Amino acid sequence: MNPSIAEPTSTQPAQSRTVLPRSGRPQGLYDLSLSELEAQVISLDFPAYRARQLWGWAYRQYVTDFQEMANIPAALRAALAAQAPLSLLEPVRAVAADDEETIKTLYQTGDDQAIETVLMLYPNRATVCVSCQVGCAVGCAFCATGLMGLTRNLSAGEMVAQVVGATREARRRGRELTNIVMMGMGEPLQNYAQMMKFINIIHDPEGLDIGARRITISTSGIVPRIDALAEEPLQLNLAISLHAPVDELRSRLVPINRRYPIATLMAAVDRYIARTGRRVSFEYALMRGVNDQEQTANDLAALLRGRLCHVNIIPLNPVELLPYERPDPAAIERFASILGTAGIPTSVRYSRGLDIDAACGQLRAKEQGLSAASLTPS
Ligand code: SAH
Ligand code: SF4
Repeated sequence: MNPSIAEPTSTQPAQSRTVLPRSGRPQGLYDLSLSELEAQVISLDFPAYRARQLWGWAYRQYVTDFQEMANIPAALRAALAAQAPLSLLEPVRAVAADDEETIKTLYQTGDDQAIETVLMLYPNRATVCVSCQVGCAVGCAFCATGLMGLTRNLSAGEMVAQVVGATREARRRGRELTNIVMMGMGEPLQNYAQMMKFINIIHDPEGLDIGARRITISTSGIVPRIDALAEEPLQLNLAISLHAPVDELRSRLVPINRRYPIATLMAAVDRYIARTGRRVSFEYALMRGVNDQEQTANDLAALLRGRLCHVNIIPLNPVELLPYERPDPAAIERFASILGTAGIPTSVRYSRGLDIDAACGQLRAKEQGLSAASLTPS
């Protein structure tokens, strides 16, 4: 279920590391920081300012083809189309739900992997849920992505391409993309270097200019990388997928808990809060008869009391062929009110797009025709 979870080698911020292109897969234009693009433009014997123009086309005009870049010399366009292609992801299918307020896109990567991205339109914001891996090695018991195992990490550019696609999609509907959540397929802190590179590219004021406070990293709890994140210069939001207040239950639901048990995780969260002064969110997927009991709510309140935090209760999005169910509304309400009464700031967040399988990994699971035999809940 949980084959190989690479042990982090250092807590050094990824920004200071050099990220090399993955062998066999082309570095796309979206994989390049502005300074890397400048270096590439100069290596092609063009002046550095062309890089800023290219970024304007990519991140202000959202063009899909180098041919549309009217003020860029044809020779540079042709060289870049060969060396740093624009299209890293091919949209295969888009489905809408919630009165066209939730749009889920299934993409195909250059090596024929399927990934998905969800755009959620709210009255005052538009949020994109980005995937960072094909599959996931953590193997949470209730998660469609966890069932797939990990095929590979996505590159920074493949993540940027999802955000650019969502920006186009939002604009088609007269909206601007405002928020990014790393809550699609994969565990962002197990693809740390590429994820941080992605964040630095979308944060760059010359490009998409997405403020760090509008970006949320969600993690199952990779402790050394939480410490690394606390040292990053960007003030990102951190969400911890807790799902259970005691080790025995959490280890069953979120197997990484065997490596980083709750006390170790909470110590890292405390260090994060002390270092950044930022409020941390705890995600809690509520499952009938599994983690929704009164005693469990009391244990959760006791665990979180006194911490600068917020709890998001997510009534489970049931996954076909997995045995977990969503509690009824009264049980959801009871669980939330126990936390609220205990003074823990709590909200209930119904996930969008139930009818289009918009929870993590579900559309892809269907598209790939996963059979009962290939699904082995832990
Ligand atoms: N791997 C990261 C981020 C992606 S999952 C993480 O686990 O945090 C984003 C959130 O969706 C996590 O809190 C995850 O536990 C939750 N999730 C996964 N499957 C779900 C389901 N079927 N119903 C409700 N929430 C789910
Ligand atoms: Fe991976 Fe997150 Fe799904 Fe767990 S919930 S299997 S960490 S994507």
